[in-house]
Amino acid sequence: MPEETQTKSPASTDAPAAAPAASGSTSSTPAPAPVRTRSSGGRGKFFRRKKVCKFCTEKIDAIPYRDVRLLQGFVAERGKIVPRRLTGVCTTHQRRLTRAIKQARNIALLPFATRH
Ligand SMILES: [Zn+2]
Repeated sequence: MPEETQTKSPASTDAPAAAPAASGSTSSTPAPAPVRTRSSGGRGKFFRRKKVCKFCTEKIDAIPYRDVRLLQGFVAERGKIVPRRLTGVCTTHQRRLTRAIKQARNIALLPFATRH
C-alpha cells in the first residue's frame, strides 16, 4: 500500500457544529462561549482607589480653619495631620489644610500632637 498523505489536514480546531436535534429533546445543552484570548496590555490588576481631592471637588478654595469638623477629618487621633497619601488631598489644598489646622491649633480648636 502506497502511503500517500493526501488528506493533510491543517491543525485547525474546527468547532463542532452543535446541531440541535429536531426530535423534541428537552435537555438541550447551551453552546459553550468561545474562549477569548486575553488581550495583553490591559489595565493593571489593582486599581488605585480613585481619590480626588475633596476640596477640589467641592470647590473649596480657602479652607476655613474654624471648621473643626472639616479639619478633624484630616487630623489623626493624636492630632497629627494625616498625610496626603491617605487623604487624597491635592498638594495645593494639603498646604492650605496644614495651615488651617495649625491656625486652628493656635486658637485651641484642635489639639496639638499629643505626646503620650
Ligand atoms: Zn485640591
